[in-house]
Amino acid sequence: MVYDYNLVTIGAGSGGVAACRRAGTYGARVAICEEGRVGGTCVLRGCVPKKLLVHAAHVREEIDDAAGFGWHIAEAKFDWPTLIANKNTELDRLEGIYNSMLDTAGVEILAGRGKLIDAHTVEVGERKVTAERVLIATGGWPEVPTFPGQEHVISSNEALDLLAFPERIVIVGGGYIAVEFAGIFHQLGAEVTILIRADHLLRGFDHDLRLHLEEEMMQRSGITIHASCKVTEVRRAGNAYAVETTDGVMLDADAVLFATGRKPNTAGIGLAEAGVVMSDNGAIVVDANLQTTLAGVFAIGDCTDRNNLTPVAIAEGRALAETWFNGNPQRVDYADIATAVFSQPPIGTVGLPEEAAGLAYSSVDIYRSAFRPLKNTLSGNPGRTLMKLVVDRDSDRVLGCHLIGADAPEIVQGIAVALKCGATKAQFDSTMAIHPTAAEELVTMYLPT
Ligand code: NDP
Repeated sequence: MVYDYNLVTIGAGSGGVAACRRAGTYGARVAICEEGRVGGTCVLRGCVPKKLLVHAAHVREEIDDAAGFGWHIAEAKFDWPTLIANKNTELDRLEGIYNSMLDTAGVEILAGRGKLIDAHTVEVGERKVTAERVLIATGGWPEVPTFPGQEHVISSNEALDLLAFPERIVIVGGGYIAVEFAGIFHQLGAEVTILIRADHLLRGFDHDLRLHLEEEMMQRSGITIHASCKVTEVRRAGNAYAVETTDGVMLDADAVLFATGRKPNTAGIGLAEAGVVMSDNGAIVVDANLQTTLAGVFAIGDCTDRNNLTPVAIAEGRALAETWFNGNPQRVDYADIATAVFSQPPIGTVGLPEEAAGLAYSSVDIYRSAFRPLKNTLSGNPGRTLMKLVVDRDSDRVLGCHLIGADAPEIVQGIAVALKCGATKAQFDSTMAIHPTAAEELVTMYLPT
């Protein structure tokens, strides 16, 4: 059988583009279907625009800190439309780069919604193309529960492009997106209220990190957090909204942001009809080779709802291209994936939280250091940093590293390499400190707590 292409990918986000570029570089005939703009969630509606807003938010802290270092800044004024316009210009630039990278790799872009017809056929608009292999890389989409007034709320997609800055914002959810946007809007000057249905933010993260973030947000930043609370109704109230909750609190807000998780973007693209099995929430079921239940059809990234992180999707896409077109069989190693939450203060974490390590190992030592960073002495900034190592007492291996404070996401990338190499606490201790830094605490924690 001669196919039109060796590979057709549905979805030009980070994972799909990475797979196609790598495949094209090895001489495969490749096409990628995209109904919107090239770039996907990370570049257009997620990581990149969010991080640009985090940088904008951080300027507020620098301004507040300035006086202690002798700087007198007359009056700082923030203009939301300027930030959003500049952010959009940067996204246009990045989209152009993505398009030209695909072009350089010889990847054809099929504009339109790709639909799987069978294991080797994809329909895009009026056209049907055939492929030796089909890759589904359609990502995820924000999920908002159904309740009265649901039509008034926004997701992170809209939050990145609001026309007017919300002076008061209610954020529902306690995951990555909720805490990141809470930090952004607070630092840019909004009054922020978070509503979480659980007792604490960031389920699944190390407990000390969760408590530290809550303390920093509530006591130092003035963000309000209502725990064990859900929204019952959102009503229009003039130009704003009235938010009614299960604990009887009525909140007024200029915007209500729901950050209640994301759902695999797998509906309406012919998957079930073609024989691709999906779980109840629409996640594509894949085996260890990332093959779906339909031979010849593969899936990567958020549409499989496993490790919903951009670098994982990229690694999966590249591993497949290496395996298929470079005679270099690869599987992604999912152990010890480091992750960052760009909250204020930010989090960097890798490996097992204390609670999980306690269940998996017979004896675990915890090393913890909480301190006020040097910079905050002159500035008067009350923010504190927390660093924590989780160590298996029997083997001395460092099982987890959990950081919250300035530069935590930058620091943890290096620590992730050490954990990948199986570093022991003794090896951390024998590593010379870099002074004066915050990160030096990681190699000078002497006694377990
Ligand atoms: P998360 O799954 O991280 O968090 C969802 C939050 O919403 C949880 O606090 C959850 O509560 C709550 N929730 C879920 N359903 C409801 C409901 N019906 N009513 C009230 N609360 C509800 O999702 P996010 O949307 O924050 O992020 C999605 C994914 O995107 C993340 O898992 C992550 O993989 C990725 N991401 C990564 C980032 C990064 O790497 N920095 C940044 C942003 C996103 P509970 O805890 O009780 O379940």
